[in-house]
Amino acid sequence: MTDATLAFDALMEITARPPIAFVRGEGSYLWDNTGKRYLDFVQGWAVNCLGHAPPELAEVISAQAKRLITPSPAYYNDASLKLAKALTDLSCFDRVFFANSGAEANEGAIKLARKYGAVRKGGAFEIITFEGAFHGRTLATMSASGKKAFEPLFEPKVSGFRKAKWNDLGSVEELITDNTVAVMLEPIQGEAGVWPASDKFLRELRALTSAHGLLLIFDEIQTGMGRTGKLFHYEHTGVTPDIMTLGKGIGGGVPLAALLATEAASCFEHGDQGGTFNGNALMCAAGLAVLEQVAAPAFLKSVAENGLYLESELQRLSARHGIGEVRGRGLLLALDLRVPIAPLIVAAALDDGVLLNAPRPDTLRFMPALNVSRQEIDLMIQCLDALLNTAGVARRVA
Ligand code: PLP
Repeated sequence: MTDATLAFDALMEITARPPIAFVRGEGSYLWDNTGKRYLDFVQGWAVNCLGHAPPELAEVISAQAKRLITPSPAYYNDASLKLAKALTDLSCFDRVFFANSGAEANEGAIKLARKYGAVRKGGAFEIITFEGAFHGRTLATMSASGKKAFEPLFEPKVSGFRKAKWNDLGSVEELITDNTVAVMLEPIQGEAGVWPASDKFLRELRALTSAHGLLLIFDEIQTGMGRTGKLFHYEHTGVTPDIMTLGKGIGGGVPLAALLATEAASCFEHGDQGGTFNGNALMCAAGLAVLEQVAAPAFLKSVAENGLYLESELQRLSARHGIGEVRGRGLLLALDLRVPIAPLIVAAALDDGVLLNAPRPDTLRFMPALNVSRQEIDLMIQCLDALLNTAGVARRVA
């Protein structure tokens, strides 16, 4: 399928994109408008947990679209009730609010924490977040983020966020005042370059927040839905947060996200939260179909095993080329290249028909479909190996 007539100048320029347009996807592969095929280790930014256009998901979406798309959030629909029940059955949470994007789910978490502060903690409203954090692109979630590049943008920011140092409990403790209501973090900082919170730090944070009566909020938009080999990352540590947000993989590629909370933290009253498309039947039916597959123990086991395989292959590659560490968990991994050649590698890999991501100039991030095969992992490694071998790529920059 080729289409050379596509115009690239009608969309707002919001990021640098290669001058190709994808027209088809299947599993770990995408095809562009010239018919070229790409092996995809970006997968919609860790979104397509079942790969591109999974037939079973397409069938569910098609059947649901013929039955009921949205009856309005003023009424219940069966798909959202079923998905909410499944999520609460499978997690430590009691209540769910569905959103349309990760940022919107996080915006909801921030509002829920502020509401909790207003009704249960004497008006406390401050939320401690972290340097390097990424929570989204609404004004409040950009304000909650600790991304340096966001600092000069869209001033004045939403106030009430104080930034602690990553994996540093003392720096969190120092920021706690009578105004503090919550601590919010990603168990693995994905956009910053895949920097995991240590299990010890997560346990200490739980103890600290409990001791001060603060809510612990996990942004599992990137780490949730099986990405790290457990359905939710918090299961790795035994730490249970009070609030969790999900996005990306929850819809298997369609716009769906969720805000989950324990009964004790669920304090929204009528009128506090809502939205036209929230919890619509079409997206929730997709979410249910995804969850049924991803939550299966055999599926999660294969994610964990393939994650270990990718990790060990990246470590061998790193040893061969004398580069840096491999970070992350499950199928959310990063390779430290030690020199700022990641954008060059990404561009060269694109030419070679492999999609990779560089969250930082010196780091590559790998977020394939959760059902990626070993053969596909091997093909990506071979491509990367050849690129790292290409004399000059590293030297040009180093
Ligand atoms: N939180 C985390 C940890 C993310 O990785 C992202 C997206 O990359 C978001 C929030 C924002 O999600 P969305 O882009 O769906 O708004």
